[in-house]
Amino acid sequence: MELEGCVAIVTGGSRGIGAAIAHELAAAGARVVVTYRSDAKSAEAVAEAIGGVAIQGDVASTEDCERVVAEAKELGDLAILVNNAGVTADGLAMRIKDDQWDRVMNVNAGGAFRMSRAVLPILSRRRDGVIVNIASVTALRGNIGQANYSASKGAVIAMTRTMAKEMARRNVRVNAVAPGFIETDMTADLSDAAMEYALSQIPMKRLGKASEIAPIVRFLAGPGGTYITGQTFVVDGGLYT
Ligand code: NAP
Repeated sequence: MELEGCVAIVTGGSRGIGAAIAHELAAAGARVVVTYRSDAKSAEAVAEAIGGVAIQGDVASTEDCERVVAEAKELGDLAILVNNAGVTADGLAMRIKDDQWDRVMNVNAGGAFRMSRAVLPILSRRRDGVIVNIASVTALRGNIGQANYSASKGAVIAMTRTMAKEMARRNVRVNAVAPGFIETDMTADLSDAAMEYALSQIPMKRLGKASEIAPIVRFLAGPGGTYITGQTFVVDGGLYT
């Protein structure tokens, strides 16, 4: 139980990759705070299953981020933040509207920034802590129809490197995980043609499962990750090679 005694926040932990990460961190002994924007029922079900706590909070709101961190801190020794909450609003670049651009940047990049900004003073004082940002392989290889999304995840990777450098002396490690195509609600609406194209690009010829992303987050948060910072770990069945 390598995370025994730690409190971990997983944003967007109500389903998909975030729920799998919440389960994995709880299995390692952490008390997990599962955050969500709107789906209280799912978040509470995840929290109940793992002995954690569900807290509502929109990562697009500074006030919500600060409240979530303050409430999580009340639960114990807050040591881990997983910035997982994310959205898509796809379209070809020439058709993406301002609000699609702004929303995706604001949730994916802005949300990870706001949550990290709220938690960093706590981890800094603790002189030991972990942030894992869920990026995407689209930041590295691009993806048709996702100029906004891939840019937001590129920002997450760049921010990861910078925060890692800023916080290294305080023994706070900041890393990113870049999943490929994973079976969740986010990919459920892919058209047959898009799915066929995606599969043709993946050497392992299948989508990944959320449970195949969670173990690396556990590893980074645990004793195996104590000398790793500023890195991006690709988990994608060979897509980005
Ligand atoms: P998902 O099934 O759509 O779940 C998204 C989660 O984020 C939900 O819990 C949702 O909560 C939460 N969320 C969305 N907007 C939020 C906001 N403004 N504030 C707080 N929470 C918010 O997505 P997923 O596929 O598991 O993706 C999880 C992460 O992995 C995302 O960052 C995504 O970009 C990344 N990723 C996914 C894939 C993939 O193929 N699935 C690939 C690469 C990277 P509510 O339901 O309450 O809104």
